[in-house]
Amino acid sequence: MKINIYNTLTKKKEEFKPINEGKVCLYSCGPTVYYFAHIGNLRAYLFMDNLRRVLKYNGYELKHVMNITDVGHLVSDADEGEDKMMKAARLENKNPFAIADFYAQAFLKDMGKLNIDMPEIIARATEHIECMEEYVKQIIANGYTYETDNTIYFDTSKLDKYGILSNKEVDENDTESRIDVDPNKKHPNDFAVWIKAPENHLMKWDSFWGKCYPGWHLECSAMGHKYLGEEFDIHTGGVDHITVHHENEIAQGKGFCGKNPAHYWMHIEFLQVNGGKMSKSLGNLYTIEDLKQKGYEPLVYRMFNFSSHYRKKINFTFEAMDSAKTALNRLREGYLKHLQGTDDINNEVIENYKQKFLDAINDDLNMPVAMSIVWDVIKNPNKSKKLAELILKFDEVLGFELKDYKPQVSELPQEIKNLIEKRNTARANKDWAESDRIRDELINMGYTVKDSKECTIVVKS
Ligand code: AMP
Ligand code: ZN
Repeated sequence: MKINIYNTLTKKKEEFKPINEGKVCLYSCGPTVYYFAHIGNLRAYLFMDNLRRVLKYNGYELKHVMNITDVGHLVSDADEGEDKMMKAARLENKNPFAIADFYAQAFLKDMGKLNIDMPEIIARATEHIECMEEYVKQIIANGYTYETDNTIYFDTSKLDKYGILSNKEVDENDTESRIDVDPNKKHPNDFAVWIKAPENHLMKWDSFWGKCYPGWHLECSAMGHKYLGEEFDIHTGGVDHITVHHENEIAQGKGFCGKNPAHYWMHIEFLQVNGGKMSKSLGNLYTIEDLKQKGYEPLVYRMFNFSSHYRKKINFTFEAMDSAKTALNRLREGYLKHLQGTDDINNEVIENYKQKFLDAINDDLNMPVAMSIVWDVIKNPNKSKKLAELILKFDEVLGFELKDYKPQVSELPQEIKNLIEKRNTARANKDWAESDRIRDELINMGYTVKDSKECTIVVKS
């Protein structure tokens, strides 16, 4: 089945052709674990999840690597400022390794809450220092670096062209405009690959150049190479990575073996809040826990993200979250109604919905259009188990875990819950008379009772 995806490298939608038939190797830039992931970061991983699910829906087997950065990411992406981990350790008065463990676990929990389909390999930078050292030694041996007193820099002037993703022109005079820039750097785009750790630096390793730590960009190149080889299919990340981090990954790939590591580069646009940036200082930075406290279960945020295409900015508002909450309830209820339905549906109708859904997701993951097909199915006046099955099939991409959805029993009064339990026992004992009696009692009390092979649903009429 043909999938078209937008490739930042060529700036156009292209037919996806994997290197090996039936299999997709991909790499996603993961989080820097110095604080809780905010919902903007999580949009990037929901996109990654969406891509995984669409590829699987099309029958591909995946080998997907995501890194967890727990060393070497300086406050700016371009080698300036303090290491983010060291800064967090200083502010929280903790060991940076403990900070990394805590926030890495918190991140994985958030992924779970959002029902993100996990990459096959999750690689932590601190567990791959030797691999990075081997990689950087090869770049050095190939003549793509130079040394200053405390840093080994990648020499971007050695490349035929630096900046092929962003079409960046090298401005040799640009150094003036940057604060903190190392005066020993030869060209503004050169970047650190191996750094001598100062005496008080806690995250450092013995290496061919003394006690050092790796440059941030190196980890993705080295781990991508370790698990996926010199060239793989798709690389993903946020749009902020286009101009520096991903240019530098490509540069390192060229320096290492003469190859751009990925055939397709996919980038997700930013989440904005009230039309602007999300930041701690503006008080508009939210985590999944913040949303839960405001009454939004994590899957509402998943639904919210389907309202926009991944290459468009999306504006976060609580009004939009309310709409997403309503939409999620409508989807669940609509699915249950079809599950209880007895109407017959023509197979042609089903195939037609299936085709339209597939066309939408294979058109560069067009989820707003895919969702419109889902709503058409939900709204179909004929209530049919076949349509419920179809929605479950679509849910392989949507990720709402509809098959496990049960209306919240806790919303029912205790008296009703007791009656349901009594009735379940009667049914288990095949005491149909008692079961029917309790059913009538529930109906008289204003509740609708629906039994199916899969479950019993009791709702207020
Ligand atoms: P970081 O932990 O800062 O390296 O960021 C993790 C991921 O989140 C990266 O892929 C960023 O591109 C992405 N990201 C950061 N802020 C946002 C945002 N507001 N909207 C969408 N993605 C974001
Ligand atoms: Zn990366």
